[in-house]
Amino acid sequence: MRKIGILFCLVFSFLISSQNCESKKTKDDWKMKREIMVKEQIEARGIKDPLVLQAMRKVERHLFVPAQYQDSAYNDYPLPIGNGQTISQPYIVAFMTEQLALKGGEKVLEIGTGSGYQAVILAEIAGEVYTIEIICELAESAKKRIEQMGYKNVFVRCADGYQGWPEKAPFDGIIVTAAPDHIPEPLIAQLKPGGRMIIPVGEFYQELILVKKLLDGRIEKQSVLPVRFVPMRGEAEKE
Ligand code: SAH
Repeated sequence: MRKIGILFCLVFSFLISSQNCESKKTKDDWKMKREIMVKEQIEARGIKDPLVLQAMRKVERHLFVPAQYQDSAYNDYPLPIGNGQTISQPYIVAFMTEQLALKGGEKVLEIGTGSGYQAVILAEIAGEVYTIEIICELAESAKKRIEQMGYKNVFVRCADGYQGWPEKAPFDGIIVTAAPDHIPEPLIAQLKPGGRMIIPVGEFYQELILVKKLLDGRIEKQSVLPVRFVPMRGEAEKE
């Protein structure tokens, strides 16, 4: 009887510990998942900018999602981050970042901080990143997360991003990750001549629009990809 008890205990503890082994990933396991993500989802779809690829390989996306979604963090789809919001699909983050054509050292504005993942990808390339989130709870947790990771060049504010961040304007690049039904005029005004903005525009059907401010101040717009983003709240919803 005693022998059976010991056997049961051994089998039981083996099962428990093997389960732990399943869910406990090492830094190298996560790194390998990122490598596969970059190869199969991002390079395979034509993203070439080495600065973007390097940032996507480096930033630990699983640290930006709630614990129950960590194992899916490198999969080819968006994930919930709380408060009814989502972190974008990795390919979309890479695509939008590439559209800004950053070379390093620029000043960039993001509207829709969410988890802070896109902001950190930008911070790997640009000089300074200013990011605005309308849900203060998300802004606070993103700010903490980004600080804990040691980034000193990301500045988070809780506000309606429709008005941009006039005190820090003009920006070399603006990236908007919530969709208004028109391009907010203050954001165009805060773009530096020679600068680029990438923004999803539309209600149910949305297009990513690349806005270029030419050196003479003229504006050029080009539709580059059909997308689905959460709607931009606040001022953008008014008629
Ligand atoms: N870039 C984020 C994902 C953004 S999801 C990431 O990497 O995780 C879109 C975010 O835009 C949501 O968090 C939403 O609350 C925010 N948002 C919606 N309307 C906004 C507005 N007017 N100003 C600032 N943020 C807004």
